[in-house]
Amino acid sequence: MASIAVGFPKLGLSFLALAWVMSLAACGPQTAYRPPSEPGAPAPAASGAQVLEENLTVPSAPHDVVHEVGPMETLWRLAKMYGVSVDDIARTNHISNNAVIKIGQKLTIPNARSFRNMVYLYPGSQWRYIIVHHTASDIGSATLVHRAHHDRGFWNGIGYHFLIDNGSLGKGDGQIEMSPRWVKQQDGAHCRAGGMNHQGIGIALVGNFSIEQPTPNQLQSLATLIKTLSRHYQIPSNRIMGHRDVAGANTECPGTHFPWAKLRRSLTAP
Ligand SMILES: [Zn+2]
Repeated sequence: MASIAVGFPKLGLSFLALAWVMSLAACGPQTAYRPPSEPGAPAPAASGAQVLEENLTVPSAPHDVVHEVGPMETLWRLAKMYGVSVDDIARTNHISNNAVIKIGQKLTIPNARSFRNMVYLYPGSQWRYIIVHHTASDIGSATLVHRAHHDRGFWNGIGYHFLIDNGSLGKGDGQIEMSPRWVKQQDGAHCRAGGMNHQGIGIALVGNFSIEQPTPNQLQSLATLIKTLSRHYQIPSNRIMGHRDVAGANTECPGTHFPWAKLRRSLTAP
């Protein structure tokens, strides 16, 4: 799979974020979901998951990167994402190598050379559909969506299983963020219609595709992710659909400008 060179622009949280949080109703989760408890995330190895790694950036000269920890990220995952050791991250940040890191925490990643998307593939037969969403916002990250959905009463925070970033808020353009719901293999809170919260994998792209299109990197990451998930869970192409195409869903999501023809071509390409 080809690697893509992308930048990681740093943008501050602006009033746009606030405006978007207030407009989440445009495409937010449609049902509150309250689990009996909040179990810890199983380690991929312990849960029998496969770990897929794919380069998002081409290797560069080693340089330090400041990473803001996303929802339920672990030192182990960060080490894999940046191609460095857990011990090196722990030593640089004066924490133990089995420390629990917290959302929003800033960690220096020493001598990072590239960035890899990480996707865990779990055994099981729950997932029979893939539902594509947009955030209906200019900017976003899993952390921002997680906090916004949590504030709206969604006890597990971010309702999607994956978020594909657009380069805002310090995230990479085309970066795939796994949400806690995916890591814990929990129902989503992204599309109540058709029982899709239970049987559909929810993937959201940051952007508002009622007025613009996803970036080429976002589209490539989406195609790669869908191909990987549909192969693993044996999901046929007619069960890969936009939120708006689920019977009973009353929404424009993922927007009238979402490039379905281009995505479908990518999915059938070898
Ligand atoms: Zn949606």
